[in-house]
Amino acid sequence: MQSSLIGKIEKARMYASEPHRMHVDNLQVTFRGDNTEHEVSISDDTWHCNCGFFATWQVCSHTMAIERVMNGMVPPLPLPAGEAQTA
Ligand SMILES: [Zn+2]
Repeated sequence: MQSSLIGKIEKARMYASEPHRMHVDNLQVTFRGDNTEHEVSISDDTWHCNCGFFATWQVCSHTMAIERVMNGMVPPLPLPAGEAQTA
């Protein structure tokens, strides 16, 4: 193997351990939930999911799972409005 390619592979290995270097600007994910599939997306740093929970809370198990998997690479999910605010 060419030494220049070996160098790139080594650098890729280092980069892979530093995911904070990567920022996902746009994302489209088909999420296979327990009951049905959901479409999760990130556009202009804004999350969206087509499930009913997200429509109310702007956060859901699907977006939170993707945030965990892509730790540090995706925009932070806004915290849902606290119960103290909505009560
Ligand atoms: Zn969802």
